[in-house]
Amino acid sequence: MMCGIFGYIGNLNAIEILEKGLKNLLYRGYDSYGFAVFNEKEILSYKKSGSFENLEENVKKSLKGKIGIAHTRWATKGEVDEKNAHPHFGCRMKYRDGIYQSDIAIVHNGQITNYLKIRSLLEDRGYHLLTENDSELIVHFIAWKLRQGFSLSEALHASVNELDGPFAYIISTPTELGMARDKLGLRPLVVGEYDGTFIAASEEIAVRKALPKASIHYLKPGGILVWKLKKKQ
Ligand code: GLU
Repeated sequence: MMCGIFGYIGNLNAIEILEKGLKNLLYRGYDSYGFAVFNEKEILSYKKSGSFENLEENVKKSLKGKIGIAHTRWATKGEVDEKNAHPHFGCRMKYRDGIYQSDIAIVHNGQITNYLKIRSLLEDRGYHLLTENDSELIVHFIAWKLRQGFSLSEALHASVNELDGPFAYIISTPTELGMARDKLGLRPLVVGEYDGTFIAASEEIAVRKALPKASIHYLKPGGILVWKLKKKQ
């Protein structure tokens, strides 16, 4: 019961790093995959069912940015299809020519065990979920908290306190990359940093291969982290 999650902030074209990073996580899950890359305006995403091999050049050209997330899935909730593949998005998602556009996107490893309670809480507040997937629930939960005026860090802390079950996830807004681990630390999340480049992944090997000189640490159980996109000088 695994999935692989990967996140990147740096000066290189994110999609190239995400593609290589995901290849080091494929044994964690291979029924579907997806990528999202973001800049200060929007998040652009591509996802498919099937195991990941390579991205076509025209897809890579569509996903331009220096920050991004990637996922390889082993389904535990929801069908194996493109809709249930990660990333999952908030309510403002649009779809055109094979590319999803949104203002918030998540990649997740784990399960949300108080799914029914959180789902009805969100539906009562007008959130419309597209799938039965528990990962989609997290992205709407965070979007709801942000809408209430929480900062991303505060919203991540709220998710750790209010969502039950094993989880590690990486979530992106157009300017920030946030991540969180469940209170018991039942799913792994490793972060590496070197000279303005940040990588987060389910496995240490994936961080080391992408950023050999990185200083590495494991996000602690219940831990959260937010990286902000630096404004251009
Ligand atoms: N529950 C999520 C899904 O089925 C993530 C899979 C997992 O890591 O267990 O998409």
